[in-house]
Amino acid sequence: MFCFQCQETAKNTGCTVKGVCGKPEETANLQDLLIFVLKGISVYGEKLKELGSSDRINDDFVAQSLFATITNANWDDSRFIAMVTDGLKRRDAIRDRFLAAFKAKNNKDFDEALPDAATWTATDTTVYAEKAKEVGVLSTKNEDVRSLRELLIIGLKGAAAYADHAAILGFQKDNINDFIMEALASTTKDLSVDEMIALVMKAGEISVNAMALLDEANTTAYGNPEITEVNIGVGTKPGILITGHDLKDMEELLKQTEGTGVDVYTHGEMLPANYYPSFKKYGNFIGNYGGSWWKQKTEFESFNGPILLTTNCLVPLKKDSTYLDRLYTTGVVGYENAVHIADRSEGGAKDFSAIIEKAKTCASPTEIETGTIVGGFAHNQVLALADKVVEAVKSGAIKRFVVMAGCDGRQKGRSYYTEVAENLPKDTVILTAGCAKFRYNKLNLGDIGGIPRVLDAGQCNDSYSLAVIALKLKEVFGLEDINDLPISYDIAWYEQKAVAVLLALLFLGVKGIRLGPTLPAFLSPNVVKVLVEKFDIKPIGTVERDVEAMMAGK
Ligand code: SF4
Ligand code: SF4
Repeated sequence: MFCFQCQETAKNTGCTVKGVCGKPEETANLQDLLIFVLKGISVYGEKLKELGSSDRINDDFVAQSLFATITNANWDDSRFIAMVTDGLKRRDAIRDRFLAAFKAKNNKDFDEALPDAATWTATDTTVYAEKAKEVGVLSTKNEDVRSLRELLIIGLKGAAAYADHAAILGFQKDNINDFIMEALASTTKDLSVDEMIALVMKAGEISVNAMALLDEANTTAYGNPEITEVNIGVGTKPGILITGHDLKDMEELLKQTEGTGVDVYTHGEMLPANYYPSFKKYGNFIGNYGGSWWKQKTEFESFNGPILLTTNCLVPLKKDSTYLDRLYTTGVVGYENAVHIADRSEGGAKDFSAIIEKAKTCASPTEIETGTIVGGFAHNQVLALADKVVEAVKSGAIKRFVVMAGCDGRQKGRSYYTEVAENLPKDTVILTAGCAKFRYNKLNLGDIGGIPRVLDAGQCNDSYSLAVIALKLKEVFGLEDINDLPISYDIAWYEQKAVAVLLALLFLGVKGIRLGPTLPAFLSPNVVKVLVEKFDIKPIGTVERDVEAMMAGK
């Protein structure tokens, strides 16, 4: 195996025996094979589009398959084997449609050379493991080509995850799905460096589109997030803990638990569900339990009730973990021996009755903290406060905004982000989204004239909100360049959705981003050089030096 898609990768070069995340070699290889099959589907998808006949049948499959390969999403090899088998069938079907369309248009058979991904086939699943070893990341020999291809695919995984969430709520855009296919197909071609960089930049644009679409989907379905004090204590009834990012699952769980005597709590990236008006009406929605995804091994234990994983991050259980029989997966998530809740049928809802019945047999959650935390500062809410914010900037009460969005993780070095939050001068405001907030959202950092010093916009996809806020401030202050705003970017990354967010920021022209805790292993030295020259990207340094530099606008 060779996997270097996340920040935890071994020695910051690549996991080669077993993932630091726990991903076994077989799973890693099957994921590589699935990506290879998606490339084959995309080769024909792109060709069909060139013939003027886009094929939308595979959009959801391609997006969900990419999503399933994201770090800590799916650990179930049987699911990957099924996806590869389904993918090969789909590829052959789209190939046949393309060949027929080509012949109809050109009055001759298609006879051009095709890449292995478009032609390799298998009659049974026993050959998957062997083939998988040939098609992984290292099959691209040139380090810089590999780096640019993988940067593109890793960014696509994030954009596909966001596009999938939007699609679940009925929002889809052909240009996003078309680009996903174009980009996957591009990795089977010999392109120039400039062409590959252009595709990476386009992935940033598509990530902005995907996040904007998801923002539209979420706010249309559930209203605009609003300032909310979220309870972090517990009630006395048994509860269900829901995590991940899928708000439709959240809605259906709340509807189905209402009146059953079972409470609902969020964990990790589901915390921002507390900010949506539509969910506040449920009396059994108690609040948030615990913190970041990587604390699940202890917090899932002490929760006592069932846990529903709607998307990543699911960490493999320890030998002495006791919650496997309380663990439920749905959507792209999978874990061997955990109950998987099937997808909803057209127009229907998922059936969470098994989880609810399980909850009734469990003890109520053990209290691990009490009090409240404040969030809900997505673009609509912040823009409603725009006058106050602009006044505070003009008067000098707010000197600087520091965007500390992104991810959290297990690495000790991530205490850097807590220390930056603690050491930023009191006239600074932290704009955040994603799991990164768990490093400082329970610190008492105070407020500036009623504006809290930590403004949490929501999930990592809500980084889009931070971009909207920045663009609005640029307009209000009459600036030509987004980089002239008093905003610094100190971004933490962990997995592939954060890469999509990073590419989105680069597409929007943001320069001088600090990225940590380490630079991605999939960036070759030459690709890093390009990013430094074009965008002034830099690794994080010491807390003291970085705080000083950011306050000086550097
Ligand atoms: S997802 Fe990260 S930790 Fe897991 S195998 Fe890949 S690079 Fe390693
Ligand atoms: S914030 Fe980062 S770690 Fe958390 S779900 Fe989003 S991409 Fe993953």
